Amino acid sequence: LFGYEKDIYILELDLFLDATRKKDFGFISHAHADYIANHRRIICSPPTADLLRLRLKKPQITPLKFGAVYSFDDFDISLCPAGHILGSSQILIKKDNKTLLYSGDFRTKPAKTVEAFQQVKSDILILESTFGRDTFKMPERGKVVKNLIEICKEKLEKGTTPIVFAYTLGKGQEALKILCESGLPIAVDYSIGRFVPTYIKHGIQFKPFHKFRKSDFRGKVLLLSPGMRYQRFYKEMENKFSIFLSGWGMEEKAVNRFGVDVVMPFSDHADFDELLGYIKNVGAEKIYCTHGDRGFVKTLQALNYNAEYLE
Ligand SMILES: [Zn+2]
Repeated sequence: LFGYEKDIYILELDLFLDATRKKDFGFISHAHADYIANHRRIICSPPTADLLRLRLKKPQITPLKFGAVYSFDDFDISLCPAGHILGSSQILIKKDNKTLLYSGDFRTKPAKTVEAFQQVKSDILILESTFGRDTFKMPERGKVVKNLIEICKEKLEKGTTPIVFAYTLGKGQEALKILCESGLPIAVDYSIGRFVPTYIKHGIQFKPFHKFRKSDFRGKVLLLSPGMRYQRFYKEMENKFSIFLSGWGMEEKAVNRFGVDVVMPFSDHADFDELLGYIKNVGAEKIYCTHGDRGFVKTLQALNYNAEYLE
């Protein structure tokens, strides 16, 4: 059903899945920068299409609505929400009653700015397994959020500027919605804020927030892109407390790696238990793993799954 040339490729459809270099025909599971290229013809969900229009130059997109079935040659293709970021989708490809599911990045638990994840069954599964190690267990999101808001509030009351770093697409908007709902004054960096109108277009509401300005940020929680850690204004800023939101916050040494005061475990990927639950529910007879730890393939084999790493 599929071959490859460094990318995942559905031979008979001439379709590439999340190829990072330009192809004739490509499915883009979501709009994170390391998953996109300006293919001659792109299929993706409608929210991903709108996000891609902000990231690529005049992309040629055929948006596929979630849940609808589309015919491409002898294949039926449908997309279902992957729960990773707005618009993220799994793709289910069907021919002669045989199905292949490609997960892309996914997260099964609910988030405030993402369509609810949908579980599907398939004969073959190609799986993104970023956190495929049993040490990757994410604390409950609600607890992390409570902690985040409490710290920000406490710092503001002491006259310290709390700075929250989050990736510009996905986590940035999720953090923005959470922080806005806390009632604290928030100032958000343009690189995160520029995607907000697309979120609003697709039904995600945000309480009012401020635009971040280097000249006027006192008394607010700053929500900034990670790259701003290296800017002079940040390095020279006094009386600040920095928080990085990352799935890697599960690891003890993350603070050194990210160069901040605290790394809070906040992920838009499935953790180890979610991965295993997902795989069980897909019920595939063959599993191919991509990304992440190769040891995960051995874990699956030990659980009697027919799994291998997709080279
Ligand atoms: Zn992603």
